Amino acid sequence: MLPRDRRSLRMTGHHDSGAAVIGAGPAGLAAAEVLAQAGHAVTVYDRMPSPARKLLIAGRGGLNLTHSEPLVDFLGRYHPQGGTLAGAIEAFPPTALRTWCDGLGQPTFVGSSGRVFPESFKASPLLRAWLARLADLGVVIRTRHRFVGWSETGAVLFDTPDGPTEARPAALLLALGGASWPRLGSDGAWVPVLEGQGIAVTPLTASNVGFSVAWSAVFAERFAGQPLKRIALTVGESRVRGEAMITAEGIEGGVLYAASHAIRAALAAGATTAVTLDLRPDCSEAALIQALSRAKPGESLSNRLRKGAGLSPVAAGFLREAAGSNLPAEAGALAALIKAAPLRLRAPHAIERAISSAGGVPFGQIDGRFMLRARPGIFVAGEMLDWDAPTGGYLLQGAFASGRAAAEGMRAWMARI
Ligand SMILES: Cc1cc2nc3c(=O)[nH]c(=O)nc-3n(C[C@H](O)[C@H](O)[C@H](O)COP(=O)(O)OP(=O)(O)OC[C@H]3O[C@@H](n4cnc5c(N)ncnc54)[C@H](O)[C@@H]3O)c2cc1C
Repeated sequence: MLPRDRRSLRMTGHHDSGAAVIGAGPAGLAAAEVLAQAGHAVTVYDRMPSPARKLLIAGRGGLNLTHSEPLVDFLGRYHPQGGTLAGAIEAFPPTALRTWCDGLGQPTFVGSSGRVFPESFKASPLLRAWLARLADLGVVIRTRHRFVGWSETGAVLFDTPDGPTEARPAALLLALGGASWPRLGSDGAWVPVLEGQGIAVTPLTASNVGFSVAWSAVFAERFAGQPLKRIALTVGESRVRGEAMITAEGIEGGVLYAASHAIRAALAAGATTAVTLDLRPDCSEAALIQALSRAKPGESLSNRLRKGAGLSPVAAGFLREAAGSNLPAEAGALAALIKAAPLRLRAPHAIERAISSAGGVPFGQIDGRFMLRARPGIFVAGEMLDWDAPTGGYLLQGAFASGRAAAEGMRAWMARI
C-alpha cells in the first residue's frame, strides 16, 4: 500500500485545489514561494533525492546571484532581448533579488567586477533559509518524483521508487531546467515529452562552455591550467574583456562564456577563424609598435615579447600558437598579431560540461504570463525556456524572475477557474 501522502496524490477526474511545480531548482522554488505567499496549497516535485542540487553546485566557487550593472545593460545580456523574460526581470530586478536575500538573513555584496554574491559566498546557507521559509508557508516538496508526462485524461504522471503516481493540480508549472550537468537532475528528458504534446522545442545545446583547440603538445603541457589575464576576445561585432583559462584540450572561462552566443553562431557558419584575442587591450597598437621597436640589438624575441610588449609567458606562448611557425620579428606585424591573435576554436565541449544550456521551449509557445498557448493551465519557467545569457549572475536572475512571473500567471489562471 502507498504511504498516506502518496495516496492523496491519486486523483481521478477532478482538479486538486492546489498548484503543482515540477522542478525544485531556483525557478520552481521561486514560483512555489510566490504561490504559497498568496495562500495557495503548493506541491513541488523533483526527480532527485533533494532539491536545488545545481544551485548548490553553482555556489561551490562563489554563488554569483546577479549583477549590479544598470538594468538597461543587464537586460542587454540576454538572448533574445526584450519580451517576456525582460518583463519578468523588470518586475523582479537584481535589486529585488538582493532585498529578498536580505530577508532570508543572507545579505549580499558587490564584488570588484560588479557581480553580486551572498556574504557567505556559498549557496547552502541561502538554500537552508529558503527551504525553511517554504516549509513555514506549507509548501510540500516531494522528492524522487520523476515527471514522465500526462495520462489520456490529463493527469500529471510521475515515476517514483514506490511505483507510478499522478496528480491533477489546478495549475502546473514546469521548471525542469536545461541539460547541462545532468547528474544534478536536469537531464533534458522532458524534451520528447513536450514534443509528444505537439510543443516545438529548440534543441538544447551547450552554452557557457569551453571549446576544444588543437594546441601543440608543448604548449598544452606547459600552460594547461594557466589563465590568460586581462585580454579581450572579439568575434564579429562583439568584443568582451576578461580572462580565459588554458586547458589541456582547449580554452574556457569568462570571455568565452560572455561571447558564447556569437561564437556558436560563427562556428555554425563555418567561420573557424572568426575569433581573435587582444593580449594587450589596454595598450594601443601604436604604443606596442613603439615599445617593440626599442629592442636592444641581438635581443631575443622572447625578451621583446616579455619586456617590450609586457606579455606573460602563457600569453607569449599563445601568440606563438596563433602564428604557427611564423612569429614575425618586425615590430608592426608583431604588434598587429598581439592585438588580434587568431584563436582557432574547433567545437564547444559537450553539454554535460556546460554551465548552462541554450535552446528549450521557445517564447512563441508561451503567452505573456509564461503559460503554454497549446496547453492552458501549464506554465514554463527557468532554464528550460529558450533564452541564453552569459555567466555573471544572469542565469540565476533569469531563473528566479521567470519563476516568480510564472507564479503570478498561475495565480491569475487559478483565479478565473
Ligand atoms: C557548475 C555550475 C555553476 C554555476 N554557477 C552559476 C552562477 O554562479 N551564477 C548563475 O547565475 N548561474 C550559475 N549556474 C547556472 C544556474 O545554476 C542555472 O542556470 C539555474 O540553476 C537554472 O535554474 P532552473 O530552476 O531553471 O533549473 P535547475 O536548477 O536545473 O532545476 C531544475 C530541477 O528540475 C528537476 N527535474 C528535471 N527533470 C525532471 C523530471 N523529469 N521530473 C522531476 N524533476 C525534474 C531537476 O532535478 C532540478 O532540480 C551554474 C551552473 C553550473 C552547472
